[in-house]
Amino acid sequence: MLTMTRRTYIPFCNILRVRDPPPRAEPAEPKKSKTLWKIPLEIVEIIFQLLSDLDRACFALSCKRLHACYVSYNRQHGICVLSTLPRTLLLRRLQNERWVYCYRCQNLHRRSRWLFLRFGWICDPKPAISECNAWCDFQHDDKVDICPCSSITFHQKQHPTEYFKSQQETLRRSSYHKLSETFIHLCTIQHPLAQVFVLTRAWSNKTSKTFQVENLIVFRASKETALSGLFQKISSRLSRYETESWLKNFFNEAQSDFFIGDESSNWYQCHGWNIARGKPYDFKITLFRDLGGDRRPSKGWDGNCHK
Ligand SMILES: [Zn+2]
Ligand SMILES: [Zn+2]
Ligand SMILES: [Zn+2]
Ligand SMILES: [Zn+2]
Repeated sequence: MLTMTRRTYIPFCNILRVRDPPPRAEPAEPKKSKTLWKIPLEIVEIIFQLLSDLDRACFALSCKRLHACYVSYNRQHGICVLSTLPRTLLLRRLQNERWVYCYRCQNLHRRSRWLFLRFGWICDPKPAISECNAWCDFQHDDKVDICPCSSITFHQKQHPTEYFKSQQETLRRSSYHKLSETFIHLCTIQHPLAQVFVLTRAWSNKTSKTFQVENLIVFRASKETALSGLFQKISSRLSRYETESWLKNFFNEAQSDFFIGDESSNWYQCHGWNIARGKPYDFKITLFRDLGGDRRPSKGWDGNCHK
C-alpha cells in the first residue's frame, strides 16, 4: 500500500544538481511538468536497470509515480534498499538549498536551523520528525496495524513521542500519558456474534530500545453465543498458533482488516470467560508485539507489516 503523507519533496533538478535551469513551460501548459508522470512503465524499468543503486534512488524521488515504480521494482528484484544503498552518499547528494547533511548525526537537517545552530549544537541521535521525512518516508512505505483503526509507518515508529502526541489529537478515544510515556487507545470491531473492544497500549521500551504494542481484545457475547461453535473453539489451553489463527479467522468474519502479524515472537494470552451473573459474557485475549528498534531489516517489524 502506498500512502505518501507528509513526504517532503526534493526537486529532481536539485538532486542531480542540474546546471541549466529547466526549460520554461509553454504558457498554456500547467506549471508542473508532467513528463515523468507519463513515461511508460517499461521505459521506467529500463531506466532503473541502467542506473546505479544511488542514481536509481535519486531518480525515484522525483515524483510519486516514480517512487511507486521504484518500490515495486525493488520488491520484484528482491532489493533491500538499506543494505545496498550507501546512506551517507545518498544523504550527501540529497543536500540542496533547503537540506544539509550533518556528519555528526548522519541525517539531513533544515538548512535554516543548521545555520542558526551550527556552533555548539548537540544533535539528537534521532532527528525531529519534520527533519527526517525525506529519509525515512522514502525508505519505508510499509505499515504495521497498531489497532483495528490505525497503523504506523517505520518513520513514525522511530519518533514515538511525536507520533503519540499527534495521534492524541486526531485519533478518537486516545491519549498519551506523559509520565509513563504510554499511548492508550480504545476502539471497537463489530462481529455478528459479539461486540469487540480493543484496548491498545503502545510505548517505546527504554531497556530493549524497541517499540512495543499490546492489544487487550475483549469479546462481549451473550450466554447463547458464548456457548456457540465459534467460542467453543477458543480456550486458554490453545497454543499460540491456534490462538493466532482463531483471531485471524474472527477478524476476517468481522470484515476487519486488522492485521495482527505472523511474527513468531508475537505473544498471545487467552484469559478465558469472565462470567458475572446477569451480565454479558466477556472473553479476553491479550496480544503483545515487539516491533523492533532502529535497525532494518527487523524481524519484529517485517513480521507484523500489513500484507
Ligand atoms: Zn545533526
Ligand atoms: Zn522500507
Ligand atoms: Zn483503533
Ligand atoms: Zn523519521
